[in-house]
Amino acid sequence: MNKYDKLVPKHIFDLVPYQSARRIGGHGHCFLNANEAAKSEFYFLNSTTLNRYPDGQPLEVLNSYIDYLQLPLTTNNIIATRGSDEAIALLVRTFCKVKEDAILIAPPCYGVYQIAANSYDVQVLKAKRNEDFTLNKEHIIEALNDKVKLVFIDSPANPLGILFSKEDLEYLLDKYKNTIFVMDEAYIEFAKEHSVCDLITKYDNLVVLRTLSKAFALAGIRLGFALGHKDIIDYLKKVIEPYPIPDPCAQIAKQALARGGIELMEKRVEHINLNKQKLKDQLLKLAITKRIHPSFGNYLLVEFTNGPMIFDALLSKGIVLRSFEDKPGLKNHIRITIGSDEELDELMRNLVDLKI
Ligand code: PMP
Repeated sequence: MNKYDKLVPKHIFDLVPYQSARRIGGHGHCFLNANEAAKSEFYFLNSTTLNRYPDGQPLEVLNSYIDYLQLPLTTNNIIATRGSDEAIALLVRTFCKVKEDAILIAPPCYGVYQIAANSYDVQVLKAKRNEDFTLNKEHIIEALNDKVKLVFIDSPANPLGILFSKEDLEYLLDKYKNTIFVMDEAYIEFAKEHSVCDLITKYDNLVVLRTLSKAFALAGIRLGFALGHKDIIDYLKKVIEPYPIPDPCAQIAKQALARGGIELMEKRVEHINLNKQKLKDQLLKLAITKRIHPSFGNYLLVEFTNGPMIFDALLSKGIVLRSFEDKPGLKNHIRITIGSDEELDELMRNLVDLKI
């Protein structure tokens, strides 16, 4: 009990905060639990203008991101946010009426959609998936109703790793013109040919979320983007706080989105995708591995014979993974971020040595 229990609204009292890798914690030296890149790059910082507020929206960063996309979009189609997490909350805050409207999600999926809705007292409806966790338009259609303003789909999905079909998405965008479909492409650089960003010019009810946290190895600067039709982006710009992007973060983002930065990112992605296949092959040789889900992200979702025991045994060696033991349908499942060569070697050495 705390003296503010009676002061906060009920939905805040009831709110279960997001269990981020950092919040869960875990002592170790080998962190393969947050889908981060294994190492950071070197950046320059100019501190001579830090006495000034930054641009509300750092125009050079927006322009660089649009250039990187190589699509017929302009800065009217993009807003920069503190990680894509902020874009998720901003969408809910902008488009959903408290206590009346709903969002639709398809668990298991990224946990922040539900928490963003819960924190604004917006209902969360849930679509079912097939037994192998694939999601089709029929599942979404079955769960949709008039209250749903936003449908959040992560593709590649976290923690599942699978994609949502572009064809199904187009069907939904066409049929449900008053519903906004938010495609969360946090991991899309690892499977860039599957992006649906190009559909933004065709459908005004599509929003695509992007981030510099994963393939660009910049989780620490908290920079994400929402892309969509100008009219949607204008509303998000109306609601966002005045100076969301700190100037040092914008400076770093500009360097990461310059040609050299993009080349580094592409090399990193190539290496991670190779290591993902290598790790998958090695894991499949172990008797403790039951199944590995297809993954288009920088991680593998693995079903082990005894997930909790394996998780604890690795943790005791300082290797921190992400357990999904308590998530519906994901008993014995552990998500493993594709770390550096050394980290993956250490992981495999310890898995092979396990006495289970
Ligand atoms: N979407 C998905 C699917 C994620 O996995 C994550 C981070 N784990 C995010 C969005 C948020 O990323 P960020 O806020 O760092 O941009």
